[in-house]
Amino acid sequence: MRRFPASFSCVVFVASTMIPAVLHAQTPVPANAPYKDARLPVEKRVADLLSRMTLEEKATMLSGSGWMESAAIERLGIPAIKMADGPLGVRSWLGSSAVTSGANAVKIETTSFPAGVAMAATWDTALVEREGQAIGQEVKALGRDMILGPTVNINRVPLWGRNFEGYGEDPYLSGRLGVAYVRGVQGEGVIPSVKHFDANNEEFERHRIDETIDARTLHEIYLPAFKAAVKEGGAWTVMSAYNKVNGVHCAESTYLLTDVLKKEFGFKGFVISDWGSTYSTAPTVNAGMDLEMPGGAPMRAAYTPERNKISGNGAGWLTADKVLAEVKAGNITEATVNDNAGRILRVIFLSGIFDHPHTATGEVDTPAQRAVARQAATEGIVLLKNAGALLPLDAATIHSIAVIGPNAAVARTGGGGSSLVRPKYAIAPLDGIREMAGHTVQVTYALGVGMEGEDPAQDTPEARARLLKEATEAAAHADVAVVVVGRYSKLETEGADVKTMDLPAGQDALIEAVEQANPHTVVVLNTGDPVTMTRWLDKTPALLDMWYGGQEGGHALASILFGEADPSGKLPVSLPKKWEDSPAAANYPGTNLEVNYAEGIYVGYRYYDTKNVEPLFPFGFGLSYTTFKYSGLTVTPGKVSETEPVEVSLTVSNTGKRAGAEVVELYVQDGHSKIDRPVHELKGFSRVELKADETRTVRFTLDRAALSYWSPETKDWQADAGTFEIQVGASSRDIRLRAPLVLVQ
Ligand code: BGC
Repeated sequence: MRRFPASFSCVVFVASTMIPAVLHAQTPVPANAPYKDARLPVEKRVADLLSRMTLEEKATMLSGSGWMESAAIERLGIPAIKMADGPLGVRSWLGSSAVTSGANAVKIETTSFPAGVAMAATWDTALVEREGQAIGQEVKALGRDMILGPTVNINRVPLWGRNFEGYGEDPYLSGRLGVAYVRGVQGEGVIPSVKHFDANNEEFERHRIDETIDARTLHEIYLPAFKAAVKEGGAWTVMSAYNKVNGVHCAESTYLLTDVLKKEFGFKGFVISDWGSTYSTAPTVNAGMDLEMPGGAPMRAAYTPERNKISGNGAGWLTADKVLAEVKAGNITEATVNDNAGRILRVIFLSGIFDHPHTATGEVDTPAQRAVARQAATEGIVLLKNAGALLPLDAATIHSIAVIGPNAAVARTGGGGSSLVRPKYAIAPLDGIREMAGHTVQVTYALGVGMEGEDPAQDTPEARARLLKEATEAAAHADVAVVVVGRYSKLETEGADVKTMDLPAGQDALIEAVEQANPHTVVVLNTGDPVTMTRWLDKTPALLDMWYGGQEGGHALASILFGEADPSGKLPVSLPKKWEDSPAAANYPGTNLEVNYAEGIYVGYRYYDTKNVEPLFPFGFGLSYTTFKYSGLTVTPGKVSETEPVEVSLTVSNTGKRAGAEVVELYVQDGHSKIDRPVHELKGFSRVELKADETRTVRFTLDRAALSYWSPETKDWQADAGTFEIQVGASSRDIRLRAPLVLVQ
């Protein structure tokens, strides 16, 4: 895997910015120019190439040449970086630099992986890395160089339209998965983009909303996943967010882009703007924005001044003419332009696309890539309730299943917006169930209720009554009813928040009616956001959350229903009983385009567990068809000074009769700090596969960071001497083992 050389130092780069551009500029480029030599260190190549570029050429690199391409400098052989949307697979795109989803777009069909929240529910970093690798391979196979993902924004409110895309509510979990995705993609020589920096947590007025977030909350909740992706994953690019943070658009935030990302995190790659998120020239370049996207004619066509007035978008600010004018006026220095262009060149060399351009000659949606998508969809399914062990269904004793619901016969693979992938095929729950039920089990189907807003013909009083009747009859005549409910890509999408936590119209009533007709009812949630379940949950014997499962979602669901696979997914988000219970309900979406993150660090379980608000299902929760026992927690050494690493170990046994996987979660409780802290925070996790009766030792290593909070006083991470509690459990509210750890200063 190629990463930034560990020896990279700013000194080298500063030196490169001081090489006079006139030295080589516009002189013919010899065939053996050092920057062309793949054996030379990347920094030498960057410095040499920069020194051969005119100021105009360097300025040209600061804005895209099209919708999905950066600018090429042909004279010097600098290639355009060809991008594709993600992160849940490679989104369809057309031609060299076109709008990805245009009506006449050539249909590029690629593997549709489960939504980010489903990937997070696997808690399987190795699997997420394989997903990144598969996506990287598809990007290359299509002759592209860069995938616009992963999304590591935190699920702050249950209604964020892009919750499905991210990795849930916990910064540590999001960070681990972001690192895995980046490693998988970069290992293929493909450029990822960690997005959206920072704090893109609501779609409401996303171009204009101004978020007030204190520095501690930023550092503890909204920055750690980016930090991990940059520092540990070595991410080559980061995408800035649309929104403002503390009064400044992210694309103009010197604090975020330079002070935090480039200085504090040591980021050496380039910052790319989100599409149409720039509003000025000198302030944006000086803040640390390296590449404005999109650019060229597609940008001018899409972001007309009239449209920008309505949408709040901004674009076309880093074009060469504007940048050069600001340099001439003394508002941008050439060294800054060198830094911007140098960062883009560095990534071009590091990724290998300078030396080995990708050609569109590969295969996509291969059996191996499909296998990753299927495994991910399966591991991500969370079993939330299983009264009377209704699941797994026994194909030997069950003769009929009624499959019901607006999400039963159609594959709802993902939420809407730039992450929605067009797959070659997609398995709906009904397809998967039919396939697995075989000939011995009769499978019937009823829609039950139309999906809100999808087909007006299903939305008349007569049609609704008829559909409900058909569904209850189907349920009454079957041994088991499976009701698949949820939303779809128009109700849950980038660009708009979800209107309510309630299920779309008629779905609660459908579940109630089916449960009345058949007590053996399994409810399946097919959505990326939490939904209100209180109307029917008491009477529901079995409940599964399949999220958006990508193209293999239906197969995955069937294999869990029939017990071919053991459910091992766990919630990467708390599911509240009702919207009003959620931590930021009082501070959303804000007023007069301002939203105050007044809940501070108390996001997700940090809030529910600390403030004693009982969620419907807690963070980290998920059942299995087998049972696990935790024992023998040891913390070594039990007393540490500042810097020693601590080893935590325990044994986990599968005490049931079938193989399964358990996600073991490690939380740290700090009951003594000088500052208010959540009752506990996730600092480790491990997914362990165990055969029946098998026992394994699980080990974690904790460092100082696991004990620290971000102190507003010292503006740094700090751990206070005293006794911490190491907690190991099966969810944030199911702590099985506890042991002390003493920190001495
Ligand atoms: C989204 C990004 C996406 C970009 C390009 C933006 O609207 O926020 O996530 O990568 O468009 O399509």
